[in-house]
Amino acid sequence: MQIVKQFNNAVRQNIAKRKLESRKLDSNTSNPLEKWSIVKIKKDISKTNELKNTLNPNSLSRKDIEKYKLIKLREVLKYASKYSPYYMDLYEKERIDPSSIQKLEDLESIPLTDPVALAEKPYHFLCVSRKDIAREFTTSGTTNILKRVSYTQEELLEIVDSVVAGLKMAGMDSEGDTLQIMYPTITATWEPGLVLSKACDLAGMDSVINDSLNAESQISTMKKVGTTVIIGTSSFIYSLSRQIKELGIDPHELGIKRIICSSEPLTAFMKKEIEEIWGCKTLRQWGMTEMGLANAIECTEQDGMHVNNADFLVEVIDPKTGKILPPGEEGELVFTTLRRKCMPLIRYRTRDIATLIDEPCRCGATLDQRIKNIKRIDL
Ligand SMILES: [Zn+2]
Repeated sequence: MQIVKQFNNAVRQNIAKRKLESRKLDSNTSNPLEKWSIVKIKKDISKTNELKNTLNPNSLSRKDIEKYKLIKLREVLKYASKYSPYYMDLYEKERIDPSSIQKLEDLESIPLTDPVALAEKPYHFLCVSRKDIAREFTTSGTTNILKRVSYTQEELLEIVDSVVAGLKMAGMDSEGDTLQIMYPTITATWEPGLVLSKACDLAGMDSVINDSLNAESQISTMKKVGTTVIIGTSSFIYSLSRQIKELGIDPHELGIKRIICSSEPLTAFMKKEIEEIWGCKTLRQWGMTEMGLANAIECTEQDGMHVNNADFLVEVIDPKTGKILPPGEEGELVFTTLRRKCMPLIRYRTRDIATLIDEPCRCGATLDQRIKNIKRIDL
């Protein structure tokens, strides 16, 4: 029985590997995450008549991506009104007509989704039968309210796929690089370490998990496995960097070529100090469990985090009035999942403050939305 189980797992693993679009991406291309998003968007265009009739997959402009997101949004609205008890009731009460959403400004007519509603009635957001759920994550995230979010197997693979694209953005290659995952388990109610480790596994990248808060333990792992990229919470990496300095160890000798800070805002001051200590670029990453953990990451230009364009529509709103703010203005980040079937979230309030950049990046990405200056909302 054990052998059959191992064989089945190996087959599943191979099928999953073949499905990963990110495996085909070259980490030396200007922006692997944008390229990954375009592949996904093109696949969507080929499958949907409305998208096919509106967009030419071979020449996509920023305006076209906006059209793509609006069409996907209408699709999600229709889908959620039909299958999610929460949205069904809400949209019926508010008389929401998905076809009335023709431009981004029309989004204001769609009610925001509060994290409290998700915490209170998680299964009211479900659009599939419980037997189709492959994994549930619980998170308190930035709001300190425990929420439960479900994903299908297919969606988990999509998440892993986007994580690999994000790691390639950070310069991870399939050969020669090892990612050291440093999330302390005490804070990791949302298991980012396991998702990252699975992503590396499927992409043929090496990774190692060390959840110790002890600097010497982390350094010993780096030396043992030849770590080249490290990822962890911003506060832990900052503290580790300072401890390394105090221990009299020369970080330059450890061969770290990139650092990724996530889960918490990283101030310019912290980033500068970390980069000075290690002598390499430190990239910010942003994600929330409700959105599938990996939502945005900086490129080496470090000018705002590139959002996974295929999966999310991002808005910045005035947290008090709910009014949509133009790019460049600071407000609350609001996310809509565009391709999720298990538990789509529409205009979900993140309770994080940020600024939206809606113009091409110096790295060469011309289609992505970017977010910067992320901080916690002052409730
Ligand atoms: Zn960029």
